[in-house]
Amino acid sequence: MTQYLIKGVSVLGRKPTDLLIRDGVIAEGDAAEGTQVIDAGGLVALPGLVDLHTHLREPGREDAETVETGSRAAARGGYTAVCAMANTSPVADTAGVVEQVYRLGREAGLVDVQPIGAVTVGLAGERLAELGAMATSAAQVRIFSDDGHCVADPALMRRALEYVKAFDGVIAQHAEEPRLTEGAQMHEGEVATRLGLTGWPAVAEEAIIARDVLLAEHVGSRLHVCHLSTAGSVDVLRNAKARGVKVTAEVTPHHLLLTDERATSYDPVFKVNPPLRTQADVEALRRALREGVIDVVATDHAPHAVEDKECEWAYARPGMLGLETAISIVLDVLGEDWDLIAERMSRTPARIAGLTEHGRDPKRGAPATLTLVDPAARWVVEPGESASRSRNTPYAGMTLPGRIMATFLRGEATVLDGKAVK
Ligand SMILES: [Zn+2]
Repeated sequence: MTQYLIKGVSVLGRKPTDLLIRDGVIAEGDAAEGTQVIDAGGLVALPGLVDLHTHLREPGREDAETVETGSRAAARGGYTAVCAMANTSPVADTAGVVEQVYRLGREAGLVDVQPIGAVTVGLAGERLAELGAMATSAAQVRIFSDDGHCVADPALMRRALEYVKAFDGVIAQHAEEPRLTEGAQMHEGEVATRLGLTGWPAVAEEAIIARDVLLAEHVGSRLHVCHLSTAGSVDVLRNAKARGVKVTAEVTPHHLLLTDERATSYDPVFKVNPPLRTQADVEALRRALREGVIDVVATDHAPHAVEDKECEWAYARPGMLGLETAISIVLDVLGEDWDLIAERMSRTPARIAGLTEHGRDPKRGAPATLTLVDPAARWVVEPGESASRSRNTPYAGMTLPGRIMATFLRGEATVLDGKAVK
């Protein structure tokens, strides 16, 4: 195993130091002969990022992404662990499928791929999947989600919350009351009216979150809210947290930056679920993220094949790439508050997912699972240069701050000089 000496790096923005990587950990002592030296002057070391919400598309849509290509995109984005959503084909609703995804992740060896199990069989929202069998499988599933679909039936949601309590599991809800979003194409508001497109009202998200925090409180179980997108949702969450409900929430980079005005281009790259909202929502989400009302930034990395995305707005699938640009968008939005970034993108998501090897600050004795960022770098997003198999980034041509220069997973370099190692 190669040893690395990272020279002059700023750990979480503090004064420059050297980090020696040996046998998978950040070690004491002097560098042995043959150690690879990395000049890290000006770079910032963060614990490896952890994504709670990634769509890897395998099994089933390997033309859009595979566990390997998605893992490579993740490593390039500074991630060392990703939680893979269950809406694959077949759906990850059995021990067999989650173990397959887990094994593919280990084989790729670029990030730890932690499968998320479906809440209901086939994501159909009718009966509970084999939650216990997935939890005790080799994949040790702890997060369950029907993401892409809402667990709309309140009795089923209650039973899911009750079931996972036994093994400290968490239900991650895609909050969308389906009766309120039939035929929806974008955020319900002034822009949708102008464009004549059917709206996806904020209340469809807020109503489900309000219901679910009450259910979680009643059951005493853990709830996680996926991709929070409205100011009203922030209010519901703030209130629930003040009452002591065990609820956490995530926001995506795109909901922190982009608004529904983007739909005026009719470019389906901006079609996403939940939809891009208003500037007032963006500001409320940013504030909530700083305050900790929103706990986590999660990408909702959603690769799509060209034929599913480059078509008329109405027929395009919702979703955007996110893994390779997340840190840059967050730097743009939050500024260089490294401790806050580590908290929202590594420590807290690792804790929610129960990934004890992740989310640990780079210091002696800790696992060498970290990433190095160049905060001074500016780069232009070129879709063709993405490690993802898909090209549906909403940031094409934009100049973004901050570049991942290196990533290490248990002492193995997955990215060096800004390039994927394997
Ligand atoms: Zn979703």
